[in-house]
Amino acid sequence: MAASEFSRLIAAAADTIAAHADELTALDQAIGDGDHGLNMKRGFEAVRAESDGIAAKPLPDALKAVGTKLVMTVGGASGPLFGTLFMALGKELPGTPDRATLTAALSKAIEAVGARGKSQPGQKTMLDVLQPVYEALAQGKTATEIADAADHAADATVPMKALRGRASFLGERSIGHMDAGARSTALLVRAVAEAIEGS
Ligand code: ADP
Ligand code: MG
Repeated sequence: MAASEFSRLIAAAADTIAAHADELTALDQAIGDGDHGLNMKRGFEAVRAESDGIAAKPLPDALKAVGTKLVMTVGGASGPLFGTLFMALGKELPGTPDRATLTAALSKAIEAVGARGKSQPGQKTMLDVLQPVYEALAQGKTATEIADAADHAADATVPMKALRGRASFLGERSIGHMDAGARSTALLVRAVAEAIEGS
């Protein structure tokens, strides 16, 4: 991937997080502590600030650098988890990925996030978006279909009961609200899918 293209992906991700920071905060206020919007914005703006240097690296190293930066800057429970996601993608992906290698890498990255969070899909977290995105990729869906699947999956966290993260402290009262990390993951998936589609 060309440096300019990776820079565009970073900009697209940071833009969508910034544009939706208040919404992410509101979601996290309902069943968490209300810091998710700010956490994610701080992290992706830190990545954006180093975009030139990061994008100049080969893709695997660039992804690892994004992950490391997110771990250092996002904070909360989600920082290490998003960091793990990007670091694992960097570890697994070849320099020039295709759908098959991306699908395999995402599967490994989902495992890594689950290991880090002691979590799995079905517990009302970001994994409830990542897993359907992996499935849509594996099924050969288009970028738009994958982005739609991510949105649908985030919506589908509304009736779920949280079993991991801060929202799980609320038990049954976590039902009826969208998981903030599921929403931010869906935003990132759409931004990246549309940026790749447009190139
Ligand atoms: P904190 O919960 O520490 O305030 P954030 O608000 O930034 O951190 O992130 C909360 C999000 O992190 C949740 O909405 C959820 O999607 C995700 N999350 C929290 N714990 C886990 C976990 N153990 N496994 C997977 N995702 C998790
Ligand atoms: Mg929070």
